[in-house]
Amino acid sequence: MAYGAIGKRWPMVEQLTLEFHYLDDNFREFAKATLAWYPEHSAFLEIPCRERECVNGGFDLNDIAAKMIRQGEMESAGSLTCMGWQDRERIGKHRCLYKLKYTLHCEFQEDESGG
Ligand SMILES: [Zn+2]
Repeated sequence: MAYGAIGKRWPMVEQLTLEFHYLDDNFREFAKATLAWYPEHSAFLEIPCRERECVNGGFDLNDIAAKMIRQGEMESAGSLTCMGWQDRERIGKHRCLYKLKYTLHCEFQEDESGG
């Protein structure tokens, strides 16, 4: 699927920063990381699932970012659950359900008409 560049899809965005970490079975946080997306990057905002065996998994932040940018919000936080399949033998039976917590920050271009 073609999403084009961030700068094309959302010209008003200067930078998107994502802080995230995964949660283990005991809801302990681990693998904390930060990602930054700039206007020249592809506007396909997705993080891979951490579960190695996971099939068709991942965490999609496209809708979250789109909504946030539309509303002019600078920060959005929440959690996502992987809806991929646990492993090849369990396709159609067991979902992966791996969890991710995130905070997405958006920096908008400065308004040229502003002081
Ligand atoms: Zn997964």
